Amino acid sequence: MSAVMIDEGPSPEDIARFSDTEGYCPDCGEAVYDNAEVCPFCKSMISGRVRSEQPVSDWFEHRWKSVVIVLTILGLLSGVLYWLF
Ligand SMILES: [Zn+2]
Repeated sequence: MSAVMIDEGPSPEDIARFSDTEGYCPDCGEAVYDNAEVCPFCKSMISGRVRSEQPVSDWFEHRWKSVVIVLTILGLLSGVLYWLF
């Protein structure tokens, strides 16, 4: 971002475009404005930490753990049912 050799300020369209830039919360991965100070979803302080790309790996990691937990519960349930009947 350099203002050298530009003697006009940014136009209102440019300002609107920049303020609409979206990023992703580094903590919960939800889409947020990249100039937001606090994530509207998880209330984390994200000023200066907004990611430009969605942290898919974090999301997948969380989902993966959830799937393992569900499968473990299902396995325990099926084992109980096996012994009951
Ligand atoms: Zn968040």
